Amino acid sequence: MRIVGAHNLESRGTRYMSLLVDEELAIDAGSLASGLTFEEQARLSAVLLSHGHYDHVRDVPAVGLSLFSMGRHLSVLGESDVLNMLRSHWINGTTYPRLHEMPAEEPTLQFHSISPGESFELSGKVITPTRMNHTIASLGFRIEDGKGRVMFYTSDTGPLPPTFWEGVSADLLIAEVTMPNAWQESAISAGHLTPELLKR
Ligand SMILES: [Zn+2]
Repeated sequence: MRIVGAHNLESRGTRYMSLLVDEELAIDAGSLASGLTFEEQARLSAVLLSHGHYDHVRDVPAVGLSLFSMGRHLSVLGESDVLNMLRSHWINGTTYPRLHEMPAEEPTLQFHSISPGESFELSGKVITPTRMNHTIASLGFRIEDGKGRVMFYTSDTGPLPPTFWEGVSADLLIAEVTMPNAWQESAISAGHLTPELLKR
């Protein structure tokens, strides 16, 4: 697993949220173009989108245009609201080309709707999207590889009950802690965690 970006503020030295599993399965698309070479982008087979916030989906159009120019394609998996937002606001033929419809014979971006609690197989892994606690609908992802190893990515989330965390039981936990302990009230109202809130 490789962290391409893990920030919610972007600069030359900080990138928006993107993880890579085995160099071909991406989780969130905040920095999938800005953080990867063209050769690395060409290796991507799928991206899981946790939610529709800008810092998690920003590079979908950019990586899409790269792959279009290479004649490659990418599966884009997210909740239907997120996919609809991309279609209507970004790759709408005005802001950016309609990469989910072109080329017609095999579109570059191939959208697949997913739902919390409905597991599916992808790239030899079993992936279970899980509802998290954020200001908009957001998914965490439990990913089990072929050897029984489990990683869990929380994406953006506020506090969840202890019973939730008992059910996660992962070998590798990637959790957000967007805000410092001193900002606890802001974190709770914005659907984020602090190190102290995560510890609870
Ligand atoms: Zn968010």
